Amino acid sequence: MASDKAAITVHARNVRRVFAGAVEAVGGVDLEVEAGTFVALLGPSGCGKSTLLRMIAGLDSPTTGTITLQGAAGGNSLAYVFQDAHLLPWRSVEDNVALPLELQHVGRAERTERALRAIADVGLSDASERYPAELSGGMRMRVSLARAIVTRPKLLLLDEPFAALDEITRQRLDDQLRALHNAHGMTTLFVTHSTSEAIYLADRAIVFSPRPAKIVLDHTIGLPRARDASIRTQPTFGRELGQLQRALEAGAT
Ligand code: ATP
Repeated sequence: MASDKAAITVHARNVRRVFAGAVEAVGGVDLEVEAGTFVALLGPSGCGKSTLLRMIAGLDSPTTGTITLQGAAGGNSLAYVFQDAHLLPWRSVEDNVALPLELQHVGRAERTERALRAIADVGLSDASERYPAELSGGMRMRVSLARAIVTRPKLLLLDEPFAALDEITRQRLDDQLRALHNAHGMTTLFVTHSTSEAIYLADRAIVFSPRPAKIVLDHTIGLPRARDASIRTQPTFGRELGQLQRALEAGAT
């Protein structure tokens, strides 16, 4: 994989989001995410994590406060991966992955080359001609990931992307995502309910309170960047797990 380390710094200042009916989803969040960092966002169901992520993506706006993306000049700046793969059923894997490039009017030859490279990066080269209905859930998520990275985004936002998958598939996809982050260095924000997934993947974990989301823990993961599955059985991993778990429980009381 070619290395392309361009990344975005995220600045959120006192961000609040109040929906109609006075539903306060995000309650005054200050957050700085340095370029190239992998951050896991955790918190109880319905606390406001997706709302915050959507505002960072520019899909929604804060009621008060500001969000600035530094280094976002030019196109291709960010990509968003949802829990559902959202593939177009009538397009092959290659054509699904090439879609963002098509929308940017990238020429056919370059489109094909870049799409096939992204498909190879997620280990799906053998399936590039297949259609979504012919793929497993894990394969569909890998296509979704390939489609997100095909534009080489400087900021990658993922909202519980692997939550619906079995544990083994999820761990494989975690490994692929780590490899992509190591290779490309894009700033990555990853919403998950799994404390072990957060610790395995991230440089830093942010734990939110129940709605309205406020930060109850901002924690640098004390593990080396080079990680493989064996790290899950190490005592440090267990200690990190305990720390996040306690923050989740404390935030909930
Ligand atoms: P989960 O972990 O279950 O996905 P979450 O932490 O991502 O939850 P959000 O989806 O951000 O939570 O929702 C936070 C709160 O805001 C919820 O109470 C939700 O019902 C409410 N909410 C989200 N979007 C809207 C909207 N467009 N209009 C009104 N209320 C909304």
